[in-house]
Amino acid sequence: MRIEKLQLKNFRNYEQAQLCPAPGITVLYGENAQGKTNLMEAMYLCCVGRSQRTAKDRELVRWGEEAAYVQADVRRADGPRRVGVALFPSEQKKKKITLNGETVKRIGELMGQVNAVLFSPDDLRLVKDGPDARRRFLDMEISQIRPAYFYALQRYVRALNQRNGLLHALQAGKEETLASTLTEWDELLATYGASIVDHRLRYLERLSEKARQVHSALSGERETLSLRYAGCDASAEAIKKILFSARSDDIRRGFTGYGPHRDDYKLFINGKDARAFGSQGQQRTVALSLKLAEIEVMREETSETPILLLDDVMSELDVARRRMLLSYLGGVQTMITCTHLDDLGGAKYEKAIAIHGGVLQNSVDKMLQN
Ligand code: ATP
Ligand code: MG
Repeated sequence: MRIEKLQLKNFRNYEQAQLCPAPGITVLYGENAQGKTNLMEAMYLCCVGRSQRTAKDRELVRWGEEAAYVQADVRRADGPRRVGVALFPSEQKKKKITLNGETVKRIGELMGQVNAVLFSPDDLRLVKDGPDARRRFLDMEISQIRPAYFYALQRYVRALNQRNGLLHALQAGKEETLASTLTEWDELLATYGASIVDHRLRYLERLSEKARQVHSALSGERETLSLRYAGCDASAEAIKKILFSARSDDIRRGFTGYGPHRDDYKLFINGKDARAFGSQGQQRTVALSLKLAEIEVMREETSETPILLLDDVMSELDVARRRMLLSYLGGVQTMITCTHLDDLGGAKYEKAIAIHGGVLQNSVDKMLQN
C-alpha cells in the first residue's frame, strides 16, 4: 500500500501542509524541532487512530486552535482508502475518525485499513525496558493484522478491570458475598486470555524467524537473534486453574497477578539475554530487526506491504548498517527523517523535502547514485 497524499490542518506545529510522498523512499530533513516527527505522527495517526507519542489527543492540536485535521489518501490493491481524523483540544469533545467518508464507530474498524511500521529512537525500549513495552508492541502489531485479536484484548481488559475492582473490594473486607462472582470473571479472563496467548504465540513464531534473518544480515552474520514467549499457556483450562489457585494471593494484593496482561517475551543474542547482556549497538539492532521483521509478517499476512516510517534512525547506525537497512527496503514506501541529507551515507532516495518551522519546503525530486 502507499500513501499518495497527506494533508494537515492545525496539527502540532503545522498550520496547513500537504505531502505527496514518493512510492519509494522520501527523506524529510531539517533541524531539530521543525516538525519531522510531527509529520510521522500524523501518518501513524491515520493508521491506528492514535499517536505513538501520547495518549492525549488534545496535545496534537496546534496551540490556540479549536481543532486539528489530518487526512490521508492511500492506495491499496483492493481500492483506495481515505482516512480522516479530527481532534479537539477539549477533553469533552472526542476525536472523530472517518474512513472513506463514513464515521468509524470503533477504532477496530480502522485497524488494518492502512498499515504502518514506525521505528523511532524510543524503540530501544523494546529491548531495554520491562515487559510492558514489549507487550504493547506485540498488541499493536497483532491488532493491525487481526481485528479479532484487538476485540479479544478489549474484552479481556474490561473483564480484568472488573475482576480487579472486585478484588479490591474483597481486600478491603467488603462485599464478601460477591466472592463467588470471581468465578465468572475467571471464566471470561481464561477464555479471552487463551485466545490472546494463542494469537501471540503464532505471531511470535513467524516474527522470530524473520527477525533472525534480518538481524543476521544487519550484524554481518555474526549474531543470531532468538525470541521466546514467557508467560501463560494458550489453554483456558490452565489459565482458569491458576487463577483459582492464586485467588487468595490476588485478594491480598487487590489485583490479578497472573494472565496475558503480565506476559513477556525474551530476546536472546547468541543465546544470551539481550536486555541484560546486549551492548547499546546490539540492542538497537535487535529493535530494528523486530520492526523490519514486522513488515515481512504483515506483507505475508495481508498481501499488502505496510508503509515504513523511520524516525531519526540513520544517525544511530554506522555506515555499514545504514546501507544494509536501506537495501532491505525494496518495494516498501518509506519515509525517513534526518537532520542532514548526508546522514543517508550516499544511499538512494526518490524525494527529499526540507522542513522548517512546520512548513514543507523546496520539494526536490532527485535520485542520488551510490
Ligand atoms: P528533532 O530533530 O529534534 O526530532 P523534529 O523536527 O522531529 O525535531 P518535532 O517533534 O516534529 O521536531 O516538532 C517539535 C516541535 O513541535 C516542538 O518544538 C514544539 O514547539 C512543536 N509542537 C509540538 N506540539 C505542538 C502543538 N500542539 N502546537 C504547536 N506546536 C507544537
Ligand atoms: Mg524528531
